[in-house]
Amino acid sequence: MGWLRDWKRKRILARHRIDDALWQRALHHLPFLRGLSAAEEQRLKEFAVVFIAEKQFTPVRGVQISDDDRVEIALQACLPILQLGLDWYDGWVGIVVHPSDFHVRRTEAGEDGVVHEWDDELAGESWPGGPVVLSWEALDDSGSVAEGGANVVIHEFAHKLDMMGGEADGVPPMPTREARERWIEVFDAEFDRFCAEVDAGKEGILDPYAAEHEAEFFAVASEAFFESPNALKREFPKLYGLFAGFYRQDPARRLAA
Ligand SMILES: [Zn+2]
Repeated sequence: MGWLRDWKRKRILARHRIDDALWQRALHHLPFLRGLSAAEEQRLKEFAVVFIAEKQFTPVRGVQISDDDRVEIALQACLPILQLGLDWYDGWVGIVVHPSDFHVRRTEAGEDGVVHEWDDELAGESWPGGPVVLSWEALDDSGSVAEGGANVVIHEFAHKLDMMGGEADGVPPMPTREARERWIEVFDAEFDRFCAEVDAGKEGILDPYAAEHEAEFFAVASEAFFESPNALKREFPKLYGLFAGFYRQDPARRLAA
């Protein structure tokens, strides 16, 4: 089916493009997109065009999304897969945009058999094989707080990459078994160190929320990798190196240029 998809994608690209004014507005709002080479910039724009055509945006509860919003979501979603390929987002189509952070009811059966229920307030959510849900409020923040390294779009799409390798566990698909073993060794050591620092009350670049689970550590550190790469590299050099290998990008070098 690869050829069919390629043919369809070529047709999409022949008909649509991101105009320069819109791109400039996106760059202004999303400063971490700066520093791409001309070829990378071109590829990112093409990925975004195909992404918008292939995914289905569903604003709910009165949210209005403009062309700029669609493009900005697409550019942020496609930045992490710039060197991996659009196929990493295959297998689902929905992007649901909520007006604000939303509550979900969670239930979990404990080891004692007791079912626990609680309310979670979320800025976004990713379902395996299903939609990505984003909060409009959090989206609006993602550009303006670039220094803080928070980005709900990159966060949720990092979960999607993680889930390509099965359950969300902080281990995305790796090309070889050795690469996977190396990933787990470095990633787990960095996660343990981070959790110990959070326990000790030390504040750093990553939100303490990342200590909740390996999958959250992967998603939160991915936000920082693209938005605040120098700070991540300083605090977690080994993790930065691991991510640079996986994403095949070096945002710290790019943003320094
Ligand atoms: Zn998450």
